[in-house]
Amino acid sequence: MVLVVLVELFSQRLLANHNQRMEKRQVRENLSAYALALQRQIGFYQHQLEGLASRADVQDLLEFGDQDKAFLWAMSYRKLLPDTVGLSLISNNGEIQGDPGSLLIGPQCRADIVKLSQGIKIASPSVHRDQAGLEHFDLFAPVNNVNGERTGYVFASIELSVVQDILDTMTQDGHKLTVVAGDQTPVASVNHFIGKAEGTFQLTLPIHGTTWRITLVSQPRGMEKAFTTLLIATGLMALVFGISVVLLSRRLSRGLLREIDSIRISLDQIAEDSDKPVDIQPQFRETAPLMDAVQDISNRIQLQKESLRQLSETDSLTGLLNRRCFIHELEKAWALANRKVQIYVMTLDIDGFKQINDRYGHAVGDQVLKALTECLNDCARSTDVIARLGGDEFVILLVQSDEAAGLTLFERLRDCFEQAQTTLPIDIGMYCTLSAGLATVDSDIDTSAEASLRRSDEALYRAKQGGRNQMRQ
Ligand code: GH3
Ligand code: MG
Repeated sequence: MVLVVLVELFSQRLLANHNQRMEKRQVRENLSAYALALQRQIGFYQHQLEGLASRADVQDLLEFGDQDKAFLWAMSYRKLLPDTVGLSLISNNGEIQGDPGSLLIGPQCRADIVKLSQGIKIASPSVHRDQAGLEHFDLFAPVNNVNGERTGYVFASIELSVVQDILDTMTQDGHKLTVVAGDQTPVASVNHFIGKAEGTFQLTLPIHGTTWRITLVSQPRGMEKAFTTLLIATGLMALVFGISVVLLSRRLSRGLLREIDSIRISLDQIAEDSDKPVDIQPQFRETAPLMDAVQDISNRIQLQKESLRQLSETDSLTGLLNRRCFIHELEKAWALANRKVQIYVMTLDIDGFKQINDRYGHAVGDQVLKALTECLNDCARSTDVIARLGGDEFVILLVQSDEAAGLTLFERLRDCFEQAQTTLPIDIGMYCTLSAGLATVDSDIDTSAEASLRRSDEALYRAKQGGRNQMRQ
């Protein structure tokens, strides 16, 4: 923001300087034009006077002429010099001949003529304002005879309105022009200021061929104001733009910080080993890949945890619950049994299973174990809990059941298992039977869930002792 303001101020200053230079150049050009116009006008009169002074009739009039002839001469040649107050001839002894206007000349004029006739240098053109309504400037041209000797002057007084008219016509708005003679006598002035004269610029130039000087005071042009307005407008735009950028970037950074925070929270959640999967919604396209990666890591960790949980709870060969997990289920059943729900635990062991391993190898033994697992899954109810306690020993938890149902289940398992062994890839030629022990889960009899399992095991032992292929309670 500070940069924007500094750049704006700097460019304002730069443009203002440039504008001022242009303005000064323009003022100088204008003033030169005004000065040239006046120079030409005065030059025109001077040229006319010099033309008259070179004429033979004028030389004759000065040497031999009388007042009447001089009057006629002046009347006829005044037409050549518009706006003249008077046209006359001045002899070396200061005698004035010419039109009556010349005779109305004031003391200033007369003093000049005396000086002129005495060969004293006077300002040219001299300005005289001593007579109201006859304000004028004087021009003269020396008259020489055929021998080149000066015999007098052609002398003309021209109204100052000539100068005033030129200024009035040429002066532009916002300009104030003043023309003064060499002795500081005001010649003409015009003021075309608009409004207040603030921040003006002044320049003075001499009017060549004269002792006059012209001064131009110029108001700052509208262009500068337009420039300033434009600069202020662009400055404001830059300011608005700058503020917008700052606000937008703050909003963006806040959004990004929120994103980073949600990534941090998700990573914390993963690190804390939370069971809750992370759920992050990216707000920015730029952060989406990072958020997706975090989400993916979280999903994979959840999957791995699930698979670890399964591995820790189940038996890898049969997919049934393992002993640890079964004990947990049994404890839950114990709580139900306390509420008088009839629950039985049946332990099962394959008879003579070792021989299968010994004769046909471990792989075949595994197939037999799997065949029994299928039978257990097929014959038990969906509410029953089946587990492999280890080796060839299995267990079923019969919820809301009774002894008869337990016996029926055992019979069905026995048949199923026998049948299953006939369909093994290798004909083992001998079929294993099952022994089982059934015990009720009863808080009146046992003090713990595991005690019920122990009683079931004892029943199984009795079944083995009793000749196998049977169930004892
Ligand atoms: P019994 O009638 O008294 O039950 O005699 P048995 O031959 O079945 O002997 P027992 O139940 O005591 O032994 C079980 C055998 O099962 C011992 C072991 O080598 C075998 N065994 C244990 N786990 C596995 C297994 O995962 N795969 C295979 N193939 N055999 C196993
Ligand atoms: Mg066995």
